[in-house]
Amino acid sequence: MDMSAGLPVSQPAQQAMPPLKAQARNLDFFYGGTVQALKGVTLPVAEKKVTALIGPSGCGKSTFLRCFNRMHDLYDGSRYVGQIMFQPDDVNILDRAVDPIEVRMRIGMVFQKPNPFPKSIFENVAYGLRVRGMRSQREVAEKVEVALRDAFLWEEVSDRLDDMAFNLSGGQQQRLCIARALATEPELMLFDEPTSALDPIATANIEELIHGLRDKVTILIVTHNMQQAARVSDYTAFMYLGELVEFGDTNIIFTNPAKKQTEDYITGRYG
Ligand code: ADP
Repeated sequence: MDMSAGLPVSQPAQQAMPPLKAQARNLDFFYGGTVQALKGVTLPVAEKKVTALIGPSGCGKSTFLRCFNRMHDLYDGSRYVGQIMFQPDDVNILDRAVDPIEVRMRIGMVFQKPNPFPKSIFENVAYGLRVRGMRSQREVAEKVEVALRDAFLWEEVSDRLDDMAFNLSGGQQQRLCIARALATEPELMLFDEPTSALDPIATANIEELIHGLRDKVTILIVTHNMQQAARVSDYTAFMYLGELVEFGDTNIIFTNPAKKQTEDYITGRYG
């Protein structure tokens, strides 16, 4: 059936969203019972696209991101209300009956500061594969190489895989953490300000990498850097005081936002 039938011709066509990997629905989040950090956030996450979360410090971006891998479960008193539906199973990953370990197996996370394990470069990437029971050395080595290539790191480390990860530069360590997350083939990757501890060249490398990964994996990235959001993402969500103010195609959010609040933020009038 043609859903556009009957619409006035002057109405601009709504750009169709691609299939969704996840969708937050009316999501509230409370720290310790009293601090409400998220208020009724409803946000689609398109499959194999990059969605950026922007907004001033303290608006709830990290809190929102961390709901996706049930990180808040690790702290007493945290409370979620609402849903994050995950596809293709159509399961609410916040449901108490859903095992958070299972969720974290399917959803990878990269933090602000690179946090490699005190192990070799090879063993950092192999770690998740071994935890999942992969025993064949050949298979592990193959997967490690693919992950390091996908993280644009292979050329720089292929001749020193047994070196300790801490001997790498900050930018290389962050790409190693990305390789470590990629190795187990997550369906969704969460990036929490992944370049905030890096210099401009390392930042440019990571941005190029994130942009290129979108064909393989769905990405949700928090950034306080609007230029970064504009460079790497397909969709952008602007949050303010725990609420989603506006969501849309990144080009539109940065050139012709619908809400004045969004415009004020992207033009630097507050934040
Ligand atoms: P952003 O990522 O946009 O900077 P956050 O998600 O870190 O924002 O924080 C959102 C709100 O939740 C802020 O008011 C912050 O002070 C509060 N908050 C964050 N972490 C905690 C915590 N562990 N306990 C209590 N309040 C917190």
